[in-house]
Amino acid sequence: MVQIEKALTILTTYFGYPSFRTGQEQVIQGALQGRDTLCVMPTGGGKSVCYQVPALVMEGTVLVISPLISLMKDQVDALHQVGIPAAYINSSLSTEEYFGTMELAAKGKYRLLYVAPERLDSPAFKNQLRRMTIPMIAIDEAHCISQWGHDFRPSYRNISSIVSLFDEKPVVLALTATATPAVREDICRQLGISEENTVMTGFERANLAFSVVKGQNREKFVKDYVRKNEGEAGIIYAATRKAVDSVYDLLLKSGVSVAKYHAGLGDMERQSEQDRFLNDEASVMVATNAFGMGIDKSNIRYVIHYQMPKNMESYYQEAGRAGRDGLDSDCTLLFSSQDVQTQRFLIDQSQDVSRIPAELEKLQSMIDYCHTETCLQKFIIMYFGETDVKECGRCANCNDTRESFDVTEDVQKVLSCVIRMGQKFGKTMIAQVLTGSRNKKVLEFRFDKLSTYGLMKDRSAKDISDFIEFIISENCLSVENGQFPIIYVSERGKDVLLGKVSIQRKGTVVTKQITKDDP
Ligand code: ADP
Repeated sequence: MVQIEKALTILTTYFGYPSFRTGQEQVIQGALQGRDTLCVMPTGGGKSVCYQVPALVMEGTVLVISPLISLMKDQVDALHQVGIPAAYINSSLSTEEYFGTMELAAKGKYRLLYVAPERLDSPAFKNQLRRMTIPMIAIDEAHCISQWGHDFRPSYRNISSIVSLFDEKPVVLALTATATPAVREDICRQLGISEENTVMTGFERANLAFSVVKGQNREKFVKDYVRKNEGEAGIIYAATRKAVDSVYDLLLKSGVSVAKYHAGLGDMERQSEQDRFLNDEASVMVATNAFGMGIDKSNIRYVIHYQMPKNMESYYQEAGRAGRDGLDSDCTLLFSSQDVQTQRFLIDQSQDVSRIPAELEKLQSMIDYCHTETCLQKFIIMYFGETDVKECGRCANCNDTRESFDVTEDVQKVLSCVIRMGQKFGKTMIAQVLTGSRNKKVLEFRFDKLSTYGLMKDRSAKDISDFIEFIISENCLSVENGQFPIIYVSERGKDVLLGKVSIQRKGTVVTKQITKDDP
């Protein structure tokens, strides 16, 4: 109790915050009581305080493992400004600086020592650590330890051996914004944290309004959007450097004060473009996902994804850069089915073949997000493992006033077609059979003889394709990712076929339905 009071005093005197945010107190209290903890908070949730404050209560030097060189420097600078002795060790230091820092560290001069994970590979460094008093090891971006995370780093695997270096085991505090159950479990298992010592809070962002926009001309959408929000700060994320260049040119030509950022630009140009945006000289930043890590710009009013990103983790992290100041902000994703092919292609090119199945599974959740008709914020938070989530009332789906129709019968048609085709095919082929296509492959497999052939021939193959995506997002069909994605009927789908579950869809009716106006 006394210690947490001391922590609060430190929070106010050093950091200038009047109170802890949700979750912070619990994490800090746990750490001070010697409990290994996993802290899961979204970007901007306030994770740094969770190890910086205990560092001022505990005796010795808190070791902070962080993969982001620029972030380390920023944090150490900020700590110096408020009079907290801290230092960092990473590849940006000269040999002299390194030895100088380590000498002071050995004398216990720092409250916090930030270290890049690669450093933990060095036996000499480990020896030096052993001579220090380290009451706690904070592991920032802890998802990097997991193959299931979106940013696996092999050197993170060394962390557990560091923990066992010391006679008196330091408290382990793992921090991440990635909250998928598989990643959480993996972090806990590898770092020996009991899963019940997970503190997960604040995934809802009450000032963000999400929307997914389909079937629109993206260039026109972006131009109109930026014009409508003239002067407001916004980020537009595009999937490739080429796309960044072209959106940038487009906006520049329409007179927008725009900056751009991608790995193809030189260091100097990247830095100056970033600065222009951070200093409000350019209102819009067009960038690949290379932009944004460690950026603390609070007044971003919107984040547009020009293409669908590869998974929900990336999406929420990038979209979550909007509205850090708590004011209402928009997160819009422009979806085209072409994006799915692009992301699948990128995953197939991945270096580590063993990760492909997990990546494809994550991609599928991202696709489901683009097709779901439930609350988008709720979909995201539930993806990250929170249960008992209320609808946000702000997102495009919550505000979709179109009427809902019972589409159970149409879903049943699709499901029974999938079963009759042997559950061995993908979306395109299923749509072709349902719309009665004379495509060579359809005839070759004699699918024109099935009772479900042409059952939805009054609709376009594209509509049926979209409808299949909707059914997948409703968990009635599942996707198995082999060489080609194969669609099969899930347990819930079987319940729909048996008439135990009914399915509603907003606005669009697939085949002719009895509506209220019909007699
Ligand atoms: P994360 O590491 O989770 O992305 P940060 O630690 O960078 O988040 O904190 C995000 C922002 O929240 C920072 O601008 C920080 O100053 C602010 N912040 C953190 N804790 C508090 C608090 N208790 N009260 C008010 N602001 C806070």
